[in-house]
Amino acid sequence: MHIRDHFAHAAGPTLSFEFFPTKTDEARTKLHATINELASARPAFISLTYGAGGSTRDATQALVKHVKENTTLDPVPHFTCVNHREEDIDSVLHHYAGIGIDNILALRGDAPRDCPDHDHDHDHGLDVCRHASDLVRHIQRFNASGTHRDRRGFAVGAACFPEGHPATPNRLVEMDHLKAKVDAGVDFLVTQAFFDNHVFHDFRARCDLAGIRVPILAGILPLPSRATMLKMAELAGGMRYPAALLRALKRGGDNPEAFRRIAIQHAAAQCADLLENGVDGVHFYTLNQSDPVLKTLAALGSATQGVFRIP
Ligand SMILES: Cc1cc2nc3c(=O)[nH]c(=O)nc-3n(C[C@H](O)[C@H](O)[C@H](O)COP(=O)(O)OP(=O)(O)OC[C@H]3O[C@@H](n4cnc5c(N)ncnc54)[C@H](O)[C@@H]3O)c2cc1C
Repeated sequence: MHIRDHFAHAAGPTLSFEFFPTKTDEARTKLHATINELASARPAFISLTYGAGGSTRDATQALVKHVKENTTLDPVPHFTCVNHREEDIDSVLHHYAGIGIDNILALRGDAPRDCPDHDHDHDHGLDVCRHASDLVRHIQRFNASGTHRDRRGFAVGAACFPEGHPATPNRLVEMDHLKAKVDAGVDFLVTQAFFDNHVFHDFRARCDLAGIRVPILAGILPLPSRATMLKMAELAGGMRYPAALLRALKRGGDNPEAFRRIAIQHAAAQCADLLENGVDGVHFYTLNQSDPVLKTLAALGSATQGVFRIP
């Protein structure tokens, strides 16, 4: 469903899940089972990531097709423009329009891992789009061509970073870039995962001041393990964990089960606060695991049907 229709008719904040494509047959079978388990929560959509520089192009497209053909879920493919020529972009858009995809998450992406300088100075020779806003404009031109069966074309989602994106340390300038991206034709935003709701509330208020009025879906990650927590902190612009969470985890000691329980309680408390404060939607980073998300939803006590129902 075109996301604008969903927001127009939704009885509450949207619930959605992110998955990433896997490499082996065995992992793929497991992922399909995980998606089926999480389908029971009736998400409004599930989003499917695209590897850096298009490295999972085929795997992402295969997963999108699998979800479309074998489930009742609405798949929203991520699409990154780094390392893509105009014809690469158009071919992906034609493919998704052809199989009835209504929504796309348009991203810049990061340089592929085999790029000589992974973090900086990626050779943009191939790239027709430098920034996600260029990709958004490109998708809107595709939409205007009337190729998509929906006369509005694809609904377009985009990323945002409540704690800031490392490439733009000046947060005022970063907000200008985000506003320009939204004005280029973005229908909804999805945040990077965050663990301190104050950061999100402040970000949303700053977006409002900047005149950004599209729905902002809050990215929530119920941490499955200490190893994942460390890994996320190592990413460029990695996660910042608030003292309250770190204190609770410290009390839990080295017990992995206690870690998971505390992380789920934290994620559930974040969701409860977001729902109380009128969030547009909650987007779970599942890391391809159903258990932490289902337990978070159970801890919240909310029945879901594409939307959260606040008990
Ligand atoms: C919800 C979500 C999903 C993601 N999914 C994927 C995925 O599937 N695959 C993947 O590879 N990565 C993914 N990422 C990571 C993302 O691609 C990277 O974080 C990337 O560095 C930023 O992408 P963006 O779309 O926000 O880029 P942009 O909007 O282009 O922003 C990137 C940086 O450029 C700056 N900028 C924007 N416009 C300009 C301008 N005109 N001039 C100068 N600077 C400018 C911005 O301020 C920002 O610092 C995801 C991130 C999020 C939050």
